[in-house]
Amino acid sequence: MASNIAELIVETAGVGETEAFAARLSARLAAGDRLALRGDLGAGKTAFVRGLAHGLGHPDPREIASPTFAIHHRYEGGRLTLDHLDVYRLRPPVDLVREGLELILEDAGTVLCCEWAERLAAPLPGLVLSIQMEVLGEDRRRITCRATPGSGERLLQGIAP
Ligand code: ADP
Ligand code: MG
Repeated sequence: MASNIAELIVETAGVGETEAFAARLSARLAAGDRLALRGDLGAGKTAFVRGLAHGLGHPDPREIASPTFAIHHRYEGGRLTLDHLDVYRLRPPVDLVREGLELILEDAGTVLCCEWAERLAAPLPGLVLSIQMEVLGEDRRRITCRATPGSGERLLQGIAP
């Protein structure tokens, strides 16, 4: 029996590799899964979300960019609906319920991915994966994925490049 994986560290060389890694991961996602993304501006968080949307079969993942003013975008039309949160513009600690996002948080039929999760006042309910992105060089990024024990480990099984 294969053991479950709690942590996976991947390095990518170029935005396409980050998108491809996220797309591979997306095949494991199920309704209700919540992902937290951390890392500085330009670390590749939005690129990762674009890869997830592409992998889920969203019709036009190219339209996925860092939301400038909106905190929330919903991408429909793929295998699973993807809710994309970006709390960069909110003053931390960010309370998503106070921001009026309770229904989105509680929607068990979607996958939700939050950029700047380090600014959240509380962990996302249903969190399966925490992803830390770091800039190593112009085109190199380190992606550290930590699975929530029990619910998240299935996601990292066998996806290392
Ligand atoms: P964030 O959402 O973390 O602020 P973005 O995904 O919006 O970051 O932007 C990442 C930027 O870094 C893009 O301009 C992208 O082309 C560039 N980039 C270069 N190499 C990589 C890589 N390996 N992975 C992801 N993005 C990369
Ligand atoms: Mg972003």
